[in-house]
Amino acid sequence: MLVVMDHRASEEDVEAVVQTIEEMGYEPEPIPGRQRTAIGVVGNDGYVDEDPFVALDGVREVIHVSRPYKQVSREWRPEETVIELPNGATIGGEGVTIMAGPCSVESEEQILEAARRVKRAGATVLRGGAFKPRTSPYSFQGLGEPGLELLARAREETGLAIVTEALDPSGVELVARYTDIIQIGARNMQNYSLLRAAGSAGKPVMLKRGISATLREWLLAAEYLLNEGESRVILCERGVRNFDDHARYLLDLTAVPSAKQETHLPVIADPSHGTGDRKKVPPMARAAVAAGADGLLVEVHPDPPHALSDGAQSLTPDRFDELMEELEAIAASIDRHLTPAVREAVEAAG
Ligand code: PEP
Ligand code: MN
Repeated sequence: MLVVMDHRASEEDVEAVVQTIEEMGYEPEPIPGRQRTAIGVVGNDGYVDEDPFVALDGVREVIHVSRPYKQVSREWRPEETVIELPNGATIGGEGVTIMAGPCSVESEEQILEAARRVKRAGATVLRGGAFKPRTSPYSFQGLGEPGLELLARAREETGLAIVTEALDPSGVELVARYTDIIQIGARNMQNYSLLRAAGSAGKPVMLKRGISATLREWLLAAEYLLNEGESRVILCERGVRNFDDHARYLLDLTAVPSAKQETHLPVIADPSHGTGDRKKVPPMARAAVAAGADGLLVEVHPDPPHALSDGAQSLTPDRFDELMEELEAIAASIDRHLTPAVREAVEAAG
């Protein structure tokens, strides 16, 4: 339930609502807005009686949130969440944020080269896995902490922010020490102990959609993060299992407007894992921006044929340069932009 205050409500009025919620045994969650404050009621399992609130001064209306997910819903927070990163990059709002880099961090030379090239092309966030969730235990598992150190070095040199994956609850703290955004991979979307750990690590979280997860399950997984106190959550559509084998996964672009309709959180798309094939990445990247994605996660490798993971879907830096120009034009056609203010901040930092 949400108690929406009148724009003339005083601090005392808000405090009275907070107290009433506490007296009822629930948790108040004030949500300050540009126009007016709302106070969410957390901790209830079912319907909450609105009578104690309607008589209080300054209360404009009481809204019963009907969605199973609460804090992620637009009913709860009508204003879009815009996440600010330490390098000035933003995710959400009007800008389209491009995160790019190799699937895995492989060496200093590789990650620095990738970072320089994606930055030059206009990306503001560098991706790269140090802990890799691989289908086979015999495949490259990532460099571990040395990989995180290399990402931090790339950030220092370029001013790019970093996104990298945490694989298990015990690894969250280590990843959070280095990264600007914690990635939760598709295979882990419903790993609730991992979600709890990530949601209390103090860093923004990018939550990939599980390969067989419904929109509802995805949003409920995000709810775990907000419920731990982390409101800076990015949803990433990365393709779902398909009955056909023409592509590795089916990038569900309808999920972008569907998710955005339901949630105030930024929604981005990953055309690399979503297609599994570098030839299909640019068309689906363009389509995702046209569909309203708030950003993209794109795999770019300086030498794709020799990549230790996901080489087949990695773009060369030259192809990424071209793609960025194409994306700029598509974003402009729907009154958006590839976060130019961010680029200036990254320029200044780097
Ligand atoms: C990745 O981003 O490299 C990755 C493993 O993604 P996903 O969890 O979507 O498979
Ligand atoms: Mn990958």
